[in-house]
Amino acid sequence: MQIVLEGIDLRVVRLPLAEPFVTAHGTRRHREVVIVRAVSADGPAGWGECVAEPEPTYWPEYSAAALHVLEHHLVPRLLDGRSLREVRGNQMAKAALECAALDAGLRAEGRSVAAFLGATRPVVPTGIALGITRTVDGLVDAVVRWRDRGHRAFKLKVRPGWDVEPVRAVRDDVGDEIALLVDANGSYRSDNPDDLATLGRLAAPDLGLVAIEQPFAPDDLVGHARLARQIDVPVCLDESIGSLGDLDTALALGACGAVSLKAGRVGGLVEARRVHQRCRDAGVSLRCGGMLETGIGRALNLAVAALPGCNLPPDLGPSSRYFSTDLTPAFDSRGGTMIVPSGPGLGVEPLAEVLDDMTVSQRTLRAAT
Ligand code: MG
Repeated sequence: MQIVLEGIDLRVVRLPLAEPFVTAHGTRRHREVVIVRAVSADGPAGWGECVAEPEPTYWPEYSAAALHVLEHHLVPRLLDGRSLREVRGNQMAKAALECAALDAGLRAEGRSVAAFLGATRPVVPTGIALGITRTVDGLVDAVVRWRDRGHRAFKLKVRPGWDVEPVRAVRDDVGDEIALLVDANGSYRSDNPDDLATLGRLAAPDLGLVAIEQPFAPDDLVGHARLARQIDVPVCLDESIGSLGDLDTALALGACGAVSLKAGRVGGLVEARRVHQRCRDAGVSLRCGGMLETGIGRALNLAVAALPGCNLPPDLGPSSRYFSTDLTPAFDSRGGTMIVPSGPGLGVEPLAEVLDDMTVSQRTLRAAT
């Protein structure tokens, strides 16, 4: 694929969330992301979304830093024909730029991102991620509400003090008809006996969890490996896996029974494809993780979720779950499933008027002529 780029537009957009989202790290009411547009010399433009959050609490990158590294280090290299690999880390910024450039190329070829990745499913199941609620009843009500709309898989955020009790309440109320996993975002400690006891209780067979995601800090692969030997529920790694190299280390240690795959966190679609293949070769389950993406990132996630190795519930719901107004035409769900875009590239584009309305700042970098 040969794409000649004329320039790159970088925009910061800010969308109000449909409802506040609470995790181990805090409460979010807006989603602010960097949107990248790759302008090709003689073909369609391509789009990418940088999934970095405003604060570096999930991942070291954050949106203002990602914008800076894009503007001053990544875009100039790309427009100059140099490799993005010269820059260390900064996976989310790299992934957004790679996605925009690839999207432009794939649109020109009439090929979908799903086909590029090797996705095989035209339709994928939804998975609804639910944050920490004020009360246990509030959480159970939320699960029931989504279950009644046809959704059959849920990810519950947990942290010390909000774990076994709410998960048990959900399981007792809803029964075995739903798939459940929990995500701790690294909020437990592998050297704390109370935390280990709690995780053991979360892994009890009657709770029927399909995975426990990122119980410990990202760099605590040894702790994850130890836990994986003690419980029967797969330990799913998210923040620990920033590259294929991280995955190989986790596999060598036996730290990883499943991977939450996010193209942004591993540095792009090409690396995501490699991570997916390595997991399949190793017999490790995958799930498509989410970062409260707008429609641009959601289109990409639908393609990732459609990969043959993604056999665990994704973080994937209709646009209305997250935003009252999305950047793209809204993605809808039907009976707990969503359709994977099959059009060229990402298969969707931002709505120009909505994009302009939500744009906080914008700059354009042009290739030298
Ligand atoms: Mg996670």
